[in-house]
Amino acid sequence: MDLKQINQQLSKKNLKITRPRQAILEALTHASGWVTAKSLFEELAKQQANIDFSTICRNLELLSSSGILCRVDRDSNGIFAYSVREIEEHHHHLICRSCGKISPMDFCPLQELNSSQTSGYSNLECRFEVYGCCQACQGKE
Ligand SMILES: [Zn+2]
Ligand SMILES: [Zn+2]
Ligand SMILES: [Zn+2]
Repeated sequence: MDLKQINQQLSKKNLKITRPRQAILEALTHASGWVTAKSLFEELAKQQANIDFSTICRNLELLSSSGILCRVDRDSNGIFAYSVREIEEHHHHLICRSCGKISPMDFCPLQELNSSQTSGYSNLECRFEVYGCCQACQGKE
């Protein structure tokens, strides 16, 4: 998605196109990989965008919960990495422990569950990430 497509998504979801939100999304569309709130904050500070850390965190949360961004606990330490969503379909991610590469995965464990396994819960939300060693890193060993 480029910034124009993202802005169309924002208006469809009734999210305001604010100046800090635009600066964050612009930095994300230009980033070469996944970014954390901290690396985004440093990047925006370099550009003198004057956006405080909590605004960045709040926007990253909102944009990932509304499906504009993907969010992954890359190093399984609770510090999330974000990227503009790669594919439209609901998906999960494969994460390389060695190089940190993140690939979308066309699989959802929630779809494999039946209602007795989930005890009749509604509004189910799944968090599922798979960690391993990518093919490129296997070659290096
Ligand atoms: Zn994704
Ligand atoms: Zn790797
Ligand atoms: Zn899922």
